Amino acid sequence: MKIVLRNLTKIFPSRNKKSNEEVVAVNDFNFEIPDGKLIGLLGPSGCGKSTTLYMISGLQKPSGGRIFFGDDDVTDLPTEKRGIGLVFQNYALYPHLTVLQNILFPLQNLRGEDKMTKDQMLDRATKVARLVQIENLMDRKPSEMSGGQQQRVAIARALVKMPRVLLLDEPLSNLDARLRLQTREEIRRIQKETGITTVFVTHDQEEAMSISDMIVVMKSGLVQQIGAPQEVYNDPANLFVAKFLGTPPINVFSGRVRGGRLFIGEDDVMAVGGVGDGEVTVGIRPEGFIPDANGALRCRPVNLEVMGRDVSVISTHPASLKEEIRSIINADLSVDVSGETIRYSIKPHKIFLFGKDDEERIRFEVK
Ligand code: ADP
Ligand code: MG
Repeated sequence: MKIVLRNLTKIFPSRNKKSNEEVVAVNDFNFEIPDGKLIGLLGPSGCGKSTTLYMISGLQKPSGGRIFFGDDDVTDLPTEKRGIGLVFQNYALYPHLTVLQNILFPLQNLRGEDKMTKDQMLDRATKVARLVQIENLMDRKPSEMSGGQQQRVAIARALVKMPRVLLLDEPLSNLDARLRLQTREEIRRIQKETGITTVFVTHDQEEAMSISDMIVVMKSGLVQQIGAPQEVYNDPANLFVAKFLGTPPINVFSGRVRGGRLFIGEDDVMAVGGVGDGEVTVGIRPEGFIPDANGALRCRPVNLEVMGRDVSVISTHPASLKEEIRSIINADLSVDVSGETIRYSIKPHKIFLFGKDDEERIRFEVK
């Protein structure tokens, strides 16, 4: 089931009677979510992710725009008629019911032609329990399970009605680090096995990057960029997106273009064809630095951390906008940090220019 969002907008009225400042939580969101894909909706807290999800689910009514599931306009359809499964951060299971009863619950409320027999319901519940691998926990109460297990039950409960669309709002946030990794892979597996179009909301870029077919990066209610995770990482539309994706984060410098060359501080780093003279903001991915005795970028080494396959070199540069520069170097290369200076040449596809004021990407030709 593809989902189409057309000019989707949500404005919350001001709560404060004195000021009339309304909140534009989602601002003119346009996107066609392809059938059977997992979309990661990504951005910092307060950027409008949940509001977008709630509008897709019908829990919140848009202030403007339309929502389509396939060719059906569902904008005015109540939640229970949309055929969606919802999973929230807090698992919200019924504490007095067993796992089986929790999973059966949505089916027992079906009426009319959707009504199922007891055997059909049991059969369905067993199937989804097997899918999320909790079939041996069916008699437990929620309090007798780990967070990861409870979240699986919540996912099973969301899947039991065979939804057309699965909506997940930060489903892993309450889990510890290891369980988070494991459960996100589970979610990906389940999504692939069922082929249900899924929207996965998270503020964690690594989480979104690792399981999504496509990511949507949002900031202050506005979509910043949509694309395959690697595409967005490799080709960020603006400084916000460049900074939001990647660990360690991108290194940011103030730079200047003069006569077709990029200067970072005093260092004449490279040719940037087609860019007019002026000040720019420069982003360099940590993996974009190559230690090179003749390299143009001259940094002062501070520390070296060995991380097995890679080493991480911490250094400083007068034009760096952050205190420290972090570069990731293949451990096979010898890196000398004993001196006053470490020189780098920069991989051209790992360096991005942005407008100093509007922070939009400035493209250049590599000469
Ligand atoms: P996210 O899920 O990305 O953290 P939300 O969608 O929850 O962000 O919120 C987006 C913006 O809308 C925030 O500024 C938030 O304070 C505001 N907001 C969310 N829900 C309401 C509401 N019911 N009333 C007023 N403002 C709201
Ligand atoms: Mg939220």
